[in-house]
Amino acid sequence: MHPPFRTVHHTASIVSICGGGATLRPGEISLAHRGVLFLDEFPEFRRDLLEALRQPLEDGRITVSRASGSVVYPCRVLLVAACNPCPCGWDGDPVERCTCSATERERYRRKISGPILDRIDLHLAVPRLLPEELVAVESEGGEPSAAIAARVRKAREIQRERWAGTGFTCNAELPERLVKRSLSLSPDVRPFLASMAERLRLSGRGISRVLKVSRTIADLAGSRDVEVPHVAEALAYRDGGEKR
Ligand SMILES: [Zn+2]
Repeated sequence: MHPPFRTVHHTASIVSICGGGATLRPGEISLAHRGVLFLDEFPEFRRDLLEALRQPLEDGRITVSRASGSVVYPCRVLLVAACNPCPCGWDGDPVERCTCSATERERYRRKISGPILDRIDLHLAVPRLLPEELVAVESEGGEPSAAIAARVRKAREIQRERWAGTGFTCNAELPERLVKRSLSLSPDVRPFLASMAERLRLSGRGISRVLKVSRTIADLAGSRDVEVPHVAEALAYRDGGEKR
């Protein structure tokens, strides 16, 4: 059985995404439980909708209240959000020119900042490949998806064993209060992260999310302890998408 993959359009109602309605149905966020919830055109989503997703994403469950009482649906999802670099879509492109004004670009960027962005662990800029680059990628090959899938399965197995008996199955599920003492950090990680957290103005939640991603990077590398390079990589994912 494949995990669910649910795409939500930015015109969707809060009820269709979060659940509820006259006949009480789970929303898209619950239908995506243990799978992927995909928000395309992320900047187009209304603030109140993103606000409604914030706590459920954190808790992995959502309470839907009605006059007759309330129900709790599960919603542990992998949230994937996509957006263009600017309104016209060409900012940063090696060939085409962006036609947006600085103000338009700034307004667009402000739309994708804020509390929900703080809950997205990996920010990646994906530049367009030129035709000659596409051809080069084809001929060189690159790592096959099957090999990557095998590495991910192995890391998942390590995590299942690590958290056996705790009720958690992977690093991402670990609550904030357990993060700092349970991740087997090498001694130089703390001072490194403290200085970086100050420079990047990371919140407490931001720090614990970086640590969880670092633990996963270490698991993928087969490393017993979380080392400084794992944390540096995790920080690059958090910071990377916005500046380019
Ligand atoms: Zn543009």
